[in-house]
Amino acid sequence: MTSRLQEDPVLLSAMAMNQIPGHNIYIGGIFCLKNKAALERANVTHVVSVLRLSPSEDIFAGYQHHKIDVDDVDDDNLLEHIPAAIRFIQAGLDAGGSVLVHCAMGKSRSATVCIAYLLHQQRSGLTPDSALELIRQCRPLCEPNDGFMEQLNLYHEMGCPEEVADHPVYQRWLYRREVEESVACGRAPEIKSIRFEDEQPQRPQEDTGRTVEIKCRKCRRGIASTPYIISHEQEKQESAKIRSNTECAHVFLHPMKWMRSSLFPEAGPNDYEGDAPLSGRLTCPHGACGANIGKFAWQGMQCNCGHWVVPAIGLAKARVDIANKVNPTRGAGNPSPAAIGIRMPPGMRSSETGDGPGRGNL
Ligand SMILES: [Zn+2]
Ligand SMILES: [Zn+2]
Repeated sequence: MTSRLQEDPVLLSAMAMNQIPGHNIYIGGIFCLKNKAALERANVTHVVSVLRLSPSEDIFAGYQHHKIDVDDVDDDNLLEHIPAAIRFIQAGLDAGGSVLVHCAMGKSRSATVCIAYLLHQQRSGLTPDSALELIRQCRPLCEPNDGFMEQLNLYHEMGCPEEVADHPVYQRWLYRREVEESVACGRAPEIKSIRFEDEQPQRPQEDTGRTVEIKCRKCRRGIASTPYIISHEQEKQESAKIRSNTECAHVFLHPMKWMRSSLFPEAGPNDYEGDAPLSGRLTCPHGACGANIGKFAWQGMQCNCGHWVVPAIGLAKARVDIANKVNPTRGAGNPSPAAIGIRMPPGMRSSETGDGPGRGNL
């Protein structure tokens, strides 16, 4: 047995379990469950299995056991299982035991769960990348797949909350996944899977330090304001090498309820069925106006700055008026009234757009 192991490094690492520095948490592959002596030496009392193919249950007899049914593929949702896994790991540690987190090889899924635990423990001191480095000190082969790394980055961005299901960042991510899935099948998403941001209790937050309000150029109706605008400035800088000084011709928005009639022309106010186009025009929410103010494309759209926005709901800048003001409560050194910025067009009240333009329109 020993000589066979020495000849087969893959099998060897699948059987070995490694302790995460500073924690009574071990990470390994499925076969380390066969090494009862090692488990006992490590005082393992709790086992987290992060894989869909479960071995016969008697292998877990004598342990507190927590199962997470996911495959090691980019688009499996491991994020939704993270909070419960962390609670289970913590309960094991608090009871004085050690916890084994395993998947098939101890490479991707189990590493993802362990990284999430470390992030939750030290949410300000670690990033997903630095937590992975920490785990690689004991187990160099650890490497979450790209989709799981993205999910860890989201979890970190959310502030490692005790629950993710209700978090707007998580819900936005689910919405985008559903759109991507539909588009991959050549269809528009279903209206029920769209997260209309102005119907949510929590608004999206863009940390821009200024307020932008957008009106239809033709009828002056308020269309959108800062929290509903998707900034792609950062990405723009990264892709700026190609088209450095090109100004964007579009302003991209999160879904808002006034867009229903453009996005889902077949759907009535209570009708959640019906075929919808993959792309099309965006019409002014003011019924009497009906101006074409932009376009949408569920499969995404490339802004003229070079950046792709997916999914894309874009107002054409030529069809709308954009008013900018610096938020006086933000940005040190800008307290004077003169610095508050561009004058608002006459008759424009901030409350007009603040509560969601188009309210009652549909
Ligand atoms: Zn209009
Ligand atoms: Zn752009």
